Amino acid sequence: MNRYIVECTHCKTKIEDVNKSIIVDDHRPAPYCSEKCVDSFYQSEIAHFLTQEKELRRDLQYFDKIIIDDQIKESYLKETLKDPQEIWQDTNPLGEKYYYLLSQFPYEDQTTFHFIIICKVFNSKPSFILHFTMGQDNRFINFYRTSKKIKGDEPKDGFEKEQMVIPQAILNEIQVLRSEYFAQMLERRQSEDIRYEYFPLYEKFLQETLDNPDEIYEQVENDKIISTSVKTAYLNESPFFYYVIGMKIKEVDNEVILPIFSFPTTDIELCKYFNKGQLIQKQVKS
Ligand SMILES: [Zn+2]
Repeated sequence: MNRYIVECTHCKTKIEDVNKSIIVDDHRPAPYCSEKCVDSFYQSEIAHFLTQEKELRRDLQYFDKIIIDDQIKESYLKETLKDPQEIWQDTNPLGEKYYYLLSQFPYEDQTTFHFIIICKVFNSKPSFILHFTMGQDNRFINFYRTSKKIKGDEPKDGFEKEQMVIPQAILNEIQVLRSEYFAQMLERRQSEDIRYEYFPLYEKFLQETLDNPDEIYEQVENDKIISTSVKTAYLNESPFFYYVIGMKIKEVDNEVILPIFSFPTTDIELCKYFNKGQLIQKQVKS
């Protein structure tokens, strides 16, 4: 005999085993018997956020839509869910919590756009998407930066890092080298390699590759030390190599690598091409 009964929040079907029910909200112990019931329960909220976006766009007179391939949209959505650059929290008048996830991606060379998701969170993970959209206009994006920031750093926040001043001549040189390396890579890139549109998803491996590379190659080009760091990494369980080509700059008391160009690849031939110069460091893997 059960002391209590538990029912589906939506259809009121009796739930025999609470462990098999679906819960989508950390702040609301409401069980559902199926995904279908979760969808039905939140239908009016989903419709609300859709209407809200339309009204917001009308108020701001901002109607530009981001046009990207469906597959890429799907992977940007997944990436934003998994590792958003910003997380904002908001509370409705009843005390229920809503989460806003934002991540920025490159768009039509030189510009960027924000991927924005409104969701519920359970066990510290997004559990149900109420709405998602994409936009470039700051007024539009800021609407979704709600009352409480949970994650995301702004350059103005906190103490200012001591910045190294890089001479303009070096910046110009880096710009030229970037175009050269980019052209070399495109020329040799195989069609079955990771698509260029997906590169932004791999940018998070840049720092990791510099901090903890498997291999480092160095060569001297026009009196400059060009350093190539390589790391084997995994994204969604698929292995790849991440390359960061940088210029080594000697400061008074230390050396820094200014990244020139970085890319992911699965092509051993492309790796061989970019493993230029002398191998100066190799991590032995157990
Ligand atoms: Zn149900």
